Amino acid sequence: MPPTPTKPAAPAAKSGPARALESLGLTSPIALALHLPLRYEDETRLTPLADARPGDTLQVEAIVQEAHVEFRPRRQLVARLVDADGEPLVLRFVNFYPSHQKTLQPGQRIRARGELRGGFFGREMVHPQFKAVQPDTPLAAELTPVYPSSAGLPQAYLRKAVASGLQRADLREVLPAGVVPAGLPPLREALQFLHHPPPQTALATLEDHSHPAWQRLKFEELLAQQVAQAQSRRERALLSAPVLAMRPDGLHAKLMATLPFRLTGAQARVSREIAADLALGRPMHRLLQGDVGAGKTVVAALAAAVAMDAGWQCALMAPTEILAEQHFAKLVQWLEPLGVRVAWLTGSKRGKAREQALAAVASGQAALVVGTHAVIQHDVQFARLGLAVVDEQHRFGVAQRLALRRKLQAPPEEDAAAQAPAAREGPALEPHLLMMTATPIPRTLAMTYFADLEVSTIDELPPGRTPIVTKLIADNRRDELIARIRDEVAQGKQVYWVCPLIEAAEETGEAPAKPARGKPLAELRNATETHAQLSQALPGVEVGLIHGRLKPAEKAAVMARFKAGELSVLVATTVIEVGVDVPNASLMVVEHAERFGLAQLHQLRGRVGRGEVASVCVLLYSTPLSDTGKQRLRAMAETTDGFEIARRDLEIRGPGEFMGARQSGDALLRFADLDEDAPLLTQARRHATALLDRHPQAAHAHVTRWLGHQMDYLKA
Ligand code: ADP
Ligand code: MG
Repeated sequence: MPPTPTKPAAPAAKSGPARALESLGLTSPIALALHLPLRYEDETRLTPLADARPGDTLQVEAIVQEAHVEFRPRRQLVARLVDADGEPLVLRFVNFYPSHQKTLQPGQRIRARGELRGGFFGREMVHPQFKAVQPDTPLAAELTPVYPSSAGLPQAYLRKAVASGLQRADLREVLPAGVVPAGLPPLREALQFLHHPPPQTALATLEDHSHPAWQRLKFEELLAQQVAQAQSRRERALLSAPVLAMRPDGLHAKLMATLPFRLTGAQARVSREIAADLALGRPMHRLLQGDVGAGKTVVAALAAAVAMDAGWQCALMAPTEILAEQHFAKLVQWLEPLGVRVAWLTGSKRGKAREQALAAVASGQAALVVGTHAVIQHDVQFARLGLAVVDEQHRFGVAQRLALRRKLQAPPEEDAAAQAPAAREGPALEPHLLMMTATPIPRTLAMTYFADLEVSTIDELPPGRTPIVTKLIADNRRDELIARIRDEVAQGKQVYWVCPLIEAAEETGEAPAKPARGKPLAELRNATETHAQLSQALPGVEVGLIHGRLKPAEKAAVMARFKAGELSVLVATTVIEVGVDVPNASLMVVEHAERFGLAQLHQLRGRVGRGEVASVCVLLYSTPLSDTGKQRLRAMAETTDGFEIARRDLEIRGPGEFMGARQSGDALLRFADLDEDAPLLTQARRHATALLDRHPQAAHAHVTRWLGHQMDYLKA
């Protein structure tokens, strides 16, 4: 059947179909074989027009009576046909080629496939697919696959390429008997079936992916991931790390004694989990998750205290300078009285100051180094790094996470001499790694992507917090909101007002809010404008402005004034997103909330509700809202629980995007769905270790087949 254009032909892509295949990553037989149909078309049967109902998509066979071009209401090709029972049918084409007219000659037998409409003038199909046939032209024996494609890649070409890939791909069973769940077909059979289902197949089981052939693919994929994770967990178990044992009267105990508060039960528990890992002599790889404000920083400080007490250095990395600076201030306040020297490293620190900091790190004088990702740049050499802490881990890009791992895994040669004595004798020691996040990872996701991570969870907030009330307010009620701000400020409270951008179309230097959808950037209100507007509307109120274009010292100065209460209102871009801690701030306004991601909104909201005053978060939105925009705002209004938010985020965006997989260009799971396929995931997980133990070659072959090209990413 010739592809029927629904639009005038786009100029053929210069690159041609072969290039289009390449850009879809369909370069190997196995990649082609795993390129599964989106849906199927049923060309295996013919429906008599008398039996057809309007709205059905079907294939009919009929003879052309006449065809001509009409000009009203617009230029179109209209063909009139009758089927074997004499039932009439009109085919209508607004876009058509000479070849269409040539085929639709009176007397010609045609098979047409499309949606049947019951128009005023009788049954018709608009832009059906069709082809000329003879009375004895056989019907398709199988359902016709329709593949995900791209411009310049016709289905017919793609079908051929996939069929050939399917033939050539090495699809031998590599899994030993007993691994694949009972009732699922062999891999080759499953793929053959999915590409070319026989006519009687119930399409519903293919569409909802419940068919055993689909289940087989999902299981394969999940198993590959579980094996890969189990493998990297084992590789890590073979590595050595410094034994960081807690001393009874050591730094850890001293810090505990001088803290201005008692740890919550959850903080104490995760601290114990971390301390136990640090004492094991193999590299810790632990994710500490806890909602915004749960008190992760002090847990990190306690871990650092153990490391430093054992004579090792500790690095703490935060995604933004402003957050790194807060950590620095807090750690200095907690630890310097106990005799710890804390160094400070960021990208903006240059020249002599930077050299001094680097020297202190290299000599080991600085026991604790705090900073942005500048901490892992190549010229930073630690005398003996024992523990690395990465705050707001999810905010670091994939590339940075990989760089960190490399830095941790391969200490530079010339460092060897400076390593602790133990390092010189035995195998190289790897530092321990503690990652922290306020964007909790749902359990199924953790099982899949982070099986190589131990997870500790702070599931309790420090006492004395009042729940935050979230309100959704349309932007046209701005004036009311400003009046409300006046009241809050009169009562001595402080307000954050967050905007997505500083100036039209300019980068903030921080993670930008999602780019405008539909509206040009210039139309966005920006922080500068809002600052002017609020200053004018609130005479006598001190309104500050902070954004990513300010120099670090300027940012710090503004933050300090807000913290000290000299500023009542702080207009900010997302620089304040993470970690900023001003307990007296009780109102958070997020402008253009619909442009922020759910995790980001949750982070922002966490800036208030840090003290005992009742807090409010106002999400200002402008209409019209997209569906996902609506879902996000509703989720924010309905819950303040970070875990629930993460679950909804996953639901709205899907796991690939959740993990920032977009960045890597690879969706991590192509076939399996974590929610639906939890039982398969459990089985895959159960078999992964046994497979590695008893059939290492099969395990290797399986992982290579499925994940060959993305192993690095999985480790990040
Ligand atoms: P997050 O988990 O978001 O990083 P922080 O570590 O910034 O949270 O802690 C939030 C605030 O709570 C800080 O002011 C911190 O000093 C305070 N805090 C942490 N633990 C406790 C506790 N057990 N009791 C009282 N306040 C605490
Ligand atoms: Mg924090």
